[in-house]
Amino acid sequence: MSVPAPAASPVTNAATNPVTNASNKSVIKKLPALTPDRSLDSLTLGFLKTLEAEGKFAGEIHADFPTRLIHATDNSVYQVMPTAVLQPKTRDDINVVMELAGREKFSEVKITPRGGGTGTNGQSLNNTIILDTSKHLNNILGFDAERGLVHVEPGVVLDQLNAWLKPHGYFFPPAVSTASRATVGGMIGSDSSGKGSRIYGKTSHYIHDMTTVLIDGTDFNTRAMSATEAKDTMERADRVGQLYKKVHDEIAPRRDQIKSTFPEMNRGLTGYNLKEAVSDTGDMNLSFLIAGAEG
Ligand SMILES: Cc1cc2nc3c(=O)[nH]c(=O)nc-3n(C[C@H](O)[C@H](O)[C@H](O)COP(=O)(O)OP(=O)(O)OC[C@H]3O[C@@H](n4cnc5c(N)ncnc54)[C@H](O)[C@@H]3O)c2cc1C
Repeated sequence: MSVPAPAASPVTNAATNPVTNASNKSVIKKLPALTPDRSLDSLTLGFLKTLEAEGKFAGEIHADFPTRLIHATDNSVYQVMPTAVLQPKTRDDINVVMELAGREKFSEVKITPRGGGTGTNGQSLNNTIILDTSKHLNNILGFDAERGLVHVEPGVVLDQLNAWLKPHGYFFPPAVSTASRATVGGMIGSDSSGKGSRIYGKTSHYIHDMTTVLIDGTDFNTRAMSATEAKDTMERADRVGQLYKKVHDEIAPRRDQIKSTFPEMNRGLTGYNLKEAVSDTGDMNLSFLIAGAEG
């Protein structure tokens, strides 16, 4: 007795095994895997191992699937699996991570900051390493009632900040609806505003000065500078001087075009705030460029 050969083997590759073949006959498909590939790519693995081995990073390093999955969602409809999650414990930890990411060997490693994850457009999601500043960097570091200034770490939550300021008779006005979760870092990233913003303005209007860490680990301080001070800064030979000069030289000659192209808006959410970063008279405040840049 002869046994006829099956139409297709059940172990053939599903990708090359459509439901029907060219002659429109049914074919048998391979069972799809229940869980996605959980392994880490070698570049991320190398980065995390170096970060751990050099012993300068005091924060948490997570490459496990559950932690990555938790950080794969936010308040948007999207889901994007990160390659790993880092939770810095000190501000120096951020410098350490960024210095490592700036090395030639790791130039393809990408870092995405994350706060409370309340963004509605997936801003804190990425298929990169997530740098979560909400877990540990949530301290209020100083307060100057006379000047109306409070010094905070990026993971401070808006409700936490306003509860702290209340006994002193002050409040931080950009009133986002997600105040119980939204962090100052995320509010700056989104240049958040809310109820009362037509009177009080948006988050960028309350940044007196701010430190951002560049990809090579350098601190980049931004604040309002007069044209003279900005000119002095641009003459510096270091990375900070180069950046100020680059931004100035890109924006200053195009001021009229920028003003006529972008309409007056209470809250611009698309692209960089070029208009307020460099004024007609050459004053500069690059905090406006970073606020709303969304990571
Ligand atoms: C129901 C609902 C209501 C909302 N209402 C408002 C509202 O009234 N007004 C409003 O403006 N928004 C609103 N939002 C959007 C969102 O809550 C705010 O933009 C909030 O400020 C985001 O803060 P977060 O800490 O959750 O940031 P995330 O969502 O974690 O991140 C937002 C952006 O900031 C960046 N970021 C986070 N932390 C840092 C950091 N330390 N350094 C650099 N970049 C960082 C991220 O990469 C991302 O691009 C609402 C969202 C929801 C779901």
